[in-house]
Amino acid sequence: MCSTTPAIQRVLRPDFAVMRCVRRRWGLCLAVAWVVSVALSAVSTVRAGESAAPYRFPNPGSAFVVAVECQLMLADLKQAEARLAQGTEPPGPALLAELDAMTRRTEDTLGPLAVLVAVSPRKAIRDAGEACDRDYQAYASHFQQNAAVYARLQQVQPADDIDRRFLRDTLDAFEDSGVALPVDRQQRVREINDELTALTQTFERRIREDRTQLFFTRAELAGAPTGVWQRAPRDARGRYRLGLEQATVFPLLENATVPATRERMWRAFQSLGGVENIETLAVLTQRRRELALLFGHASYADFVLRRRMAHSEAEVQAFLSTVKDAVQSRELTDLAELRAEKAAHLKQNLDTTVLDRWDTSFYAERVRRARYAVDQEQFRRYFPPGASLRFVFRLAERLFGVTFTPVAVSARQPLWHPDARTYTVTDRETQAHLGTLFVDLYPRADKFNHAAVWSLRNASGLADRRPAAALVVNFNRQGLTLDELETLLHEFGHALHSLLSKTRYAAQGGTSVQLDFVEAPSQMLEDWVYDPQVLRLFAEVCRQCKPVPPALLAQARAARDFGKGIQFSRQHLFASYDLALHGREPAEPLALWAQMEGATPLGHVSGSMFPAGFEHIAGGYAAGYYGYLWSLVLAEDLRTAFVADRLDARVGRRYRETVLANGGQVAPAELMQRFLGRATDRRAFFNAIEK
Ligand SMILES: [Zn+2]
Repeated sequence: MCSTTPAIQRVLRPDFAVMRCVRRRWGLCLAVAWVVSVALSAVSTVRAGESAAPYRFPNPGSAFVVAVECQLMLADLKQAEARLAQGTEPPGPALLAELDAMTRRTEDTLGPLAVLVAVSPRKAIRDAGEACDRDYQAYASHFQQNAAVYARLQQVQPADDIDRRFLRDTLDAFEDSGVALPVDRQQRVREINDELTALTQTFERRIREDRTQLFFTRAELAGAPTGVWQRAPRDARGRYRLGLEQATVFPLLENATVPATRERMWRAFQSLGGVENIETLAVLTQRRRELALLFGHASYADFVLRRRMAHSEAEVQAFLSTVKDAVQSRELTDLAELRAEKAAHLKQNLDTTVLDRWDTSFYAERVRRARYAVDQEQFRRYFPPGASLRFVFRLAERLFGVTFTPVAVSARQPLWHPDARTYTVTDRETQAHLGTLFVDLYPRADKFNHAAVWSLRNASGLADRRPAAALVVNFNRQGLTLDELETLLHEFGHALHSLLSKTRYAAQGGTSVQLDFVEAPSQMLEDWVYDPQVLRLFAEVCRQCKPVPPALLAQARAARDFGKGIQFSRQHLFASYDLALHGREPAEPLALWAQMEGATPLGHVSGSMFPAGFEHIAGGYAAGYYGYLWSLVLAEDLRTAFVADRLDARVGRRYRETVLANGGQVAPAELMQRFLGRATDRRAFFNAIEK
């Protein structure tokens, strides 16, 4: 998906953790199966054929090819829709198979384009991909308002629980598109959905194509790791020119000793997206509210939460309150410690020392170094990027019995950039081909600047189709910190969810699960990087890599809990803000943020505009950000099965076969029950955050 997450990124990355996620851009239709018998065109340069062989990423030669392929896709979908609507036979499982064929046809074109929109160095290709997305979403709105297709779907008698769930998800998607509304309201729903697609694209594009540059003298960069600035371009005055990539911003905020340097970088990062994105977010939330009202719901949160595990806003609010109660006093203790550290560092009187927002990462790192002798920068020498990737592959091999093998780059059909790589995934025992993974590790201009996974192609048992996923991160070429290794493992968890799924229908493959469950399998794995037994796998994949000193890792584990009060309070704020913005009372995004952040102990910094870069809620996580905390409850519970041995292959295999293999074709609560042998329990989560 895009992260932080709330995902519980390690401490004090308050605002940044927002980007570890799984991308569900096409997810509007995920719940829905699209289409049809695959009349594959001979022109297909964007598409790839069905096969159990490794999937070859179709790299279109021009924007024109993208546009042509997009029109071919839409023509195929419309033909399939006509067949579905006019069928004379009583509808049966064949109709569900037709829907699966439509999903696959859609993925063939849109799956790779979704990745290219985020990573292609060619603006014309990115723009053509966005245009195709808009055309497709417009078509999808029409399709899901087709009353004849809906009527036939309602007549289908599901053969088993998998068909029943797929059918229910599909009918829900039609109903949420307005198939049962009066015609005038249907028209407005389509208009709003078209507008939402365009607005979200615009919001994301402003962040991705941001050209902000900051200039710093060598003295101003005191304390910042040399890897951040040493090779940066310099201006005529010799100042170093830095951008807003995470690989630059985070280490600088954690290490730069000059407060004005941190403040400048923090303010710039907090303005990513700019005032224009605040205005776009305002329109997005207004349109979402109008959409909910058209369906008779009082808020967008009410409209979407009824389809989630949490069921209702009241249940989410009750959960968030419990989290807040658990961490509130701890947040104050954490902040008091950081303020004391600042006073001591600057030799100031504690009473007159004020902790600023651009101080938190810096002083948290200082406390960690002082108290636990841990400096995240120390880890880079142990975790070269390539070896780190091989390490997570080896972990998957041990735990889940799968092997990742690099595929040579084809000169005839290169990927989108020379840094991108292809790997095939096979079952270690049977040697069966399971799927294909694409990886893009390093930052560059115009590239999506967080960390995320795109499930561009899902498993379909009906078509013997294997999944494909793309893992996109932005790491320092010199190596990863332990935090970044955790991020890599988190994203890899999303990729495994896609690649190891064996669902009957592509629309339910891998990460196509309810939004408040989707982070759980990834969050579960984050814990693994603190286990010395797990880290020893590095030696198996990198002979020249020196092992992490056991004492350093032990200190990192001890330091891990420091700052949890701040971290969880921040997540609580993000989730509460998202719910309030999509709640019953209309609100202006920046004013609401200033008010809610202003009520926290560190207050709101005038001029900062965090929501302008809050991609989650501009996109698919609207009224869904709470899902990171909600999923973490499930992740902590899943971890209990591995508590004795995080490399236990028997438990890993059982997890693969019960949780990962089923994707979204079984309800999350049932998956948890099957794997754990009991109902979900929140105690592990609250024990962990109160530890
Ligand atoms: Zn994630």
